Amino acid sequence: MEKKQFKAESKRLLEMMINSIYTQREIFLRELISNASDAIDKLYYKALTDDKLVFNKEDYYVKVTADKANRILTITDTGIGMTPEELENNLGVIAKSGSLAFKQENEAKDGHNIIGQFGVGFYSAFMVADDVTVRSRAYGSDEAFQWKSTGADGYTIEPCDKQSVGTEITLKIKENTEDDNYDEFLEEYRLKSIIKKYSDFIRYPIKMDITSH
Ligand code: ADP
Ligand code: MG
Repeated sequence: MEKKQFKAESKRLLEMMINSIYTQREIFLRELISNASDAIDKLYYKALTDDKLVFNKEDYYVKVTADKANRILTITDTGIGMTPEELENNLGVIAKSGSLAFKQENEAKDGHNIIGQFGVGFYSAFMVADDVTVRSRAYGSDEAFQWKSTGADGYTIEPCDKQSVGTEITLKIKENTEDDNYDEFLEEYRLKSIIKKYSDFIRYPIKMDITSH
């Protein structure tokens, strides 16, 4: 399978994320949950104009699943999903030019706010994960696709199996180092407190499922 390369600007940003220049790594969860919520919003707005789509609020939620033994953290949503073209266009490039230059000027002053503001949120996953897999099925499609990347060396997109519409983002959480603890991002109490701190205003339920073995 061909491995595609990130566009130059995306690559620089990705490298910054991988090297974790931001001290508040925990904000990756805020970014992924806000993307999940945006994706559900999109389906909701579609339902307003599409008679075939009925939006039952209880069917829409974000779920955070941690598997400590395997160091896997998953953020699942029942939102609009992405086609392979959207996986390519939305995750392979940074849409808003100029944001990176702005970030580099300002990151020392205000590291963590700037990430979210400028739509580079998804890449923050690489602050805590060695590899990131996005499995998604778009609304109206009967096929699902997976985007996978270990960071700087590019990404692949291929068909996968996913029965329900929406997106599932799987992070392989980094191993602890002498200086840095990543285990905390697999701990229920810690995940709950991060969600409370940054995602309290999210309009959809955020469910949790933690397994330790
Ligand atoms: P932003 O949210 O500011 O647009 P991100 O880097 O956080 O920037 O996300 C980039 C894009 O990827 C989003 O605009 C959206 O189109 C797509 N995306 C990311 N996560 C999801 C998701 N869970 N469901 C659907 N689309 C998503
Ligand atoms: Mg975002």
